[in-house]
Amino acid sequence: MNKNDILLIHGTDYKEMTKRLLEQADLAADIGDKGKHIALKPNLVTSALPSEGATTHGELLAGTIEYLQEHGFEKITIMEGSWVGDKTDRAFRTAGYDRVCRKYGVPFTDLQKDSSTEYNAAGMKIRLCDKAAAVDYMINMPVLKGHCQTTVTCALKNNKGVIPNSEKRRFHTLGLHKPIAHLNTIAKNDFILVDNICGDLDFEEGGNPVVMNRILGFKDPVLCDAFVCDCMGYDVEDVPYIGLAERLGVGSTDVAHANVICMNPPTEAEGGFHGTRRVQKLAQFACPKDACSACYGSLIYALDRLNDAGRLKKGLPPVAIGQGYQGESGEIGVGKCTSCFQKSLAGCPPKAADMVDFLMKNWG
Ligand code: SF4
Repeated sequence: MNKNDILLIHGTDYKEMTKRLLEQADLAADIGDKGKHIALKPNLVTSALPSEGATTHGELLAGTIEYLQEHGFEKITIMEGSWVGDKTDRAFRTAGYDRVCRKYGVPFTDLQKDSSTEYNAAGMKIRLCDKAAAVDYMINMPVLKGHCQTTVTCALKNNKGVIPNSEKRRFHTLGLHKPIAHLNTIAKNDFILVDNICGDLDFEEGGNPVVMNRILGFKDPVLCDAFVCDCMGYDVEDVPYIGLAERLGVGSTDVAHANVICMNPPTEAEGGFHGTRRVQKLAQFACPKDACSACYGSLIYALDRLNDAGRLKKGLPPVAIGQGYQGESGEIGVGKCTSCFQKSLAGCPPKAADMVDFLMKNWG
């Protein structure tokens, strides 16, 4: 897999999707020597079920471990340090990782209890947990979700889990953006496997999950986070640490020249959409008919951006979305399924950023 590749897979069998994506990436070849120590670094920010939108699904860990063990890798560890307000071991059990570790015979390292060493991170002194620094190959497994302070959070910010609690507190006093960018000059990001199953609308702790049923793969954490901005309807400039990390040489924000490999078409959501009250409030402006999760989730993020801009008002015609509109006519819709509408945005699924532009110009 090349550094400008982006892998996407849709569906609801998350463990099998993970294995397929890792096969496509040829992760085993990228790791190389079978004796290497490989770490899986999920997002266990707090004690919350993955279905609430904050933490990485255990199925991604299970799929990754199965893939690695089937390819002859034995030295595998799951490691993470939750945020200062919670205990990692509690979050570990809540997310069901204890069962994953037992099933596959893989140890878990609580980085909140690890020692640390100070490094020069491109001119900024940052302490890194020793066990995280010692691994040979790090698989960063963030959740794609919103964040109340940094707008989005994914690969770059997920590495806050590999620093001690004292550094997490200091990062907040420094405004997060600069230290996060510098941290990624020393933290390992060998492969990034993104849980885009149901990340939160705008909050790191979860509570308003937006179902997308998608898993993404990257080699470049900066490209990952720039792509995440598109997926949530933001500009890269809205999230200063991404551009800063690019300027420090961590990676590239050039999504326009990325090689997007969509491994299968988006899947229709089973049983409709059941968002929380906040998501339902945004959903009032949509009219789904057999919509795919990734398409509908993108529209929810786009509607949230329009809400931020004060553009959601009563009386707007609902935005049509979904396979049920194929061949039908109507006023306004998003996605190739609404191509016969008076105003329609192409794409399958279109990105939230494109939906925002389209709706800003053509709606109401
Ligand atoms: S455009 Fe149609 S087929 Fe494509 S993701 Fe959207 S609803 Fe699904």
